[in-house]
Amino acid sequence: MIKRQTTINRIFKITGIGLHTGQPVNLEFLPRREFGIAFVINGQMIPARYDMVADTRLSTLIAKEGASVSTIEHLMAAFYFSGVTNCLVYIDGPEVPIMDGSAWEFYQGMWKAGVYEFPENGVYLKVLRPVEVTREDAFLRVKPLNTLEITMSIEFRAPVGKQKKRVTDVENAFAIINSRTFGFIEELEAIRQAGLAKGATLDNAVAIGEDSIVNPHGLRYKKELVNHKILDLIGDLYTSGYRLLGKVEANKTGHYLNNLLLKEIFSDPANYAIY
Ligand SMILES: [Zn+2]
Repeated sequence: MIKRQTTINRIFKITGIGLHTGQPVNLEFLPRREFGIAFVINGQMIPARYDMVADTRLSTLIAKEGASVSTIEHLMAAFYFSGVTNCLVYIDGPEVPIMDGSAWEFYQGMWKAGVYEFPENGVYLKVLRPVEVTREDAFLRVKPLNTLEITMSIEFRAPVGKQKKRVTDVENAFAIINSRTFGFIEELEAIRQAGLAKGATLDNAVAIGEDSIVNPHGLRYKKELVNHKILDLIGDLYTSGYRLLGKVEANKTGHYLNNLLLKEIFSDPANYAIY
């Protein structure tokens, strides 16, 4: 468990393909003295923060003064798992690359670079009273707890069905980090016709067919899909700017509710403490 602000120990670069654009994107990670994670695109700095989130339909997109970066959630989860609180990410395209569909390669890059610790603390966001957001039958709630615990439930058509997973030691839940994004074959065609998912392949997503997983090697974990929803949630919650402490219960949540929960928490200073 980290206690203080940290940054990466050296500069490193990662290149990959944007899931929706299909175009190569270069990321350069720079150590940062100031608190927080921020992206820099075309000279415009955008804090990777919940109040910069401008679109949550396909991924979490942050925007400021005409510039935007989409699909930040897996990278944010990698920062969470690496314990990095301060970093600048220079990006030369509008979308964080999809890599293998998980946070694994970002996490590897940060792990190799190493972590440098500053004397300042103020990295935790402790929830002091229950906060809940809902939409139709989806909900996301958090109650006070001294660690981060997540229980996630999902429900999709067969062969996925209902899945539930509880993670008590989130900081060390390594099966979450390399669980991949997923999609349904029938949805892919519609998304492609909208000019999106141009970079989607079986190398960067789990494809769910009529009655089975299409990928030749199948799943990495029996609960890979619910794991990935937890990964998305961790990445989205880290746009609070802090490491959340609380007991989180999520049912069919997505980027929209994840962002709404943070807005709700921060709407009343009696809801939280930072230390
Ligand atoms: Zn995801």
